[in-house]
Amino acid sequence: MIQLQENTSLKPFNSFGIHVLAKQFCTVSSLNEMQELLEWNKINNYPLLVLGGGSNLLFTKNYDGLVLQNLLKGISLEKEDESYYYVKAMAGENWHQLVTYCVHKQYQGIENMSLIPGNVGASPMQNIGAYGVEIKDVFESLEAIQISDGSIVTFNNTACKFGYRESIFKHELRNQFIILSVVLKLRKTPKYNTSYGNIEEELINMNVQEPNIQSISEAVIRIRQRKLPDPSKIGNAGSFFKNPIIPTALYNQLKKDYKDMPGFAVSATALTKVPAAWLIEQTGWKGFRTGDAGCYPLQPLVLVNYGTATGAEIYNLSTQIIEKVQASFRILLEREVNIY
Ligand code: FAD
Ligand code: NAP
Repeated sequence: MIQLQENTSLKPFNSFGIHVLAKQFCTVSSLNEMQELLEWNKINNYPLLVLGGGSNLLFTKNYDGLVLQNLLKGISLEKEDESYYYVKAMAGENWHQLVTYCVHKQYQGIENMSLIPGNVGASPMQNIGAYGVEIKDVFESLEAIQISDGSIVTFNNTACKFGYRESIFKHELRNQFIILSVVLKLRKTPKYNTSYGNIEEELINMNVQEPNIQSISEAVIRIRQRKLPDPSKIGNAGSFFKNPIIPTALYNQLKKDYKDMPGFAVSATALTKVPAAWLIEQTGWKGFRTGDAGCYPLQPLVLVNYGTATGAEIYNLSTQIIEKVQASFRILLEREVNIY
């Protein structure tokens, strides 16, 4: 039985720790409750916001609609074949707990994505990724409920139209589906990816000669804990901007003036990915603070709330950063965080 709450603070439900009110708020722990709530909203017709862990959004004002917190739980081995385990996780499961489960079971493929905050349901939304692995690399399918008619639809990998921090659910199908569960296809014979970032260096520091699922996960956790602010202590939503992907011709031109400008060729294209953190640091924002809104000193791609910043203050800071980077480099930074 669903229980709606009116004018509820969303502060405990977003990792930026922004205090705004939701006109209506409801947690949903089963498919029946989800259907009941969608029926209720057909009559009441509130704009709907589906909330997972709240770690990739910024509230800039009160939400004058219905916030549905998806708490569907469960992880199970759906099937296995000669090469793969097919693991099904419900949308309300915590992502890192799913990673931990797979690491313990020796299901290989998502250990590089250890310690990403948030829930399973949001993970295909923006094709989460870290250290050279994205969910699309291990994604088998998902089930989602269509908000308009309550039908349940299965999407395979191709149907999700995954891209760099992108999926069909951020574009053509925006606000049309609620993701219920995800099936990942994880390897029985491991194929590790330790070449990215400083994983190898960390493994050496850990005295690991032969990496395995467990040690790679541990290395990623150690790096992340050193570099990223813990949202339970300093409000943030991870990388605020995407790393821009620009024409390689423009990159080569810029490189003449900025010899140490990093860039990663995007394979089979004439495009280059430039770390946004470098652009932000070059334009002087690293460690910048205005009131309680700031640019994190150890990773300038992360905007932070040191205490009582409003969403609007953080948003304004992000606009200033975009403008300065554009004026200096002719590169337009795009926000990764969902703004409400
Ligand atoms: P929310 O913030 O609750 O929601 C995000 C969006 O998805 C919203 O638009 C919401 O409406 C929608 N949504 C949520 N659940 C559903 C659902 N079931 N059905 C339909 N729509 C839904 N991201 C990375 O990719 N890689 C990283 O390495 C990474 N590191 C991070 C580190 C830190 C410290 C933080 C704070 C964030 C980081 N992030 C990273 C961003 C964030 O963790 C991911 O985007 C995560 O997937 C968000 O999950 P969530 O459940 O918190 O989503
Ligand atoms: P990093 O290792 O310092 O690298 C800086 C950037 O360069 C990264 O963002 C990465 O892009 C890119 N890069 C590094 N090595 C690369 C390679 N071999 N090939 C292609 N691109 C490469 O990055 P970091 O900030 O510490 O983050 C580490 C990983 O965690 C990254 O994958 C990052 O995306 C992820 N992360 C994401 C968030 C988020 O909120 N989205 C927050 C924290 C960390 P990519 O970002 O495309 O990988």
